[in-house]
Amino acid sequence: MPETLKKLVDIISFLPWIWEKTAVKLAFFLLKSNPNYLRNFTSCLEKVQKDIRECKVCFSYTDKENDICDICENRNRDNHLICVVEDYLDMVSIERLHIYKWHYHVLGWSISPINWILSKDLKFVELFSRIENWSFTEIIIATNPNIEWEATAMYIKENMPKSDVSITRLSKWLPNSGYIEYADEITLINAFKWRN
Ligand SMILES: [Zn+2]
Repeated sequence: MPETLKKLVDIISFLPWIWEKTAVKLAFFLLKSNPNYLRNFTSCLEKVQKDIRECKVCFSYTDKENDICDICENRNRDNHLICVVEDYLDMVSIERLHIYKWHYHVLGWSISPINWILSKDLKFVELFSRIENWSFTEIIIATNPNIEWEATAMYIKENMPKSDVSITRLSKWLPNSGYIEYADEITLINAFKWRN
């Protein structure tokens, strides 16, 4: 195999969920693909870290020329509901349902003392400040079923700055092994619908 192709296979193999056999197929696909497609692909790769930044409000992502993301900017969103998620992918999964038009807050991780991730490493200060200053009446903790996220949910409950804000969690519709990112649509819709 030519050196350049080998190098490409190695780089592709480094991606998660890609087996070597798949990497070879993808590398070969790129070798044979339309030059315009390849140019586009390269340009997107170059821009992915340069042109995307964190939203200053919810900590999801936005284009670098904006301070805040489309969701935070959208005045038609329900200002009474905020959904707290662990990471951006969870938010994307929920948005893909096209049903719930609330606000989000991306914590960035979950509390995990074993991995040295403590509350100060997450966006709690910013979350509580939003709760204090905005008119939210319900905080939906979009929980993944693991011990770290349980600790995270507990921390939010214990440190909630306002007493008149209800705190809800997804119902047990989300199976124990199922994470938000991988749950099917109906399961996820029900988990939110029957939140308590
Ligand atoms: Zn935002």
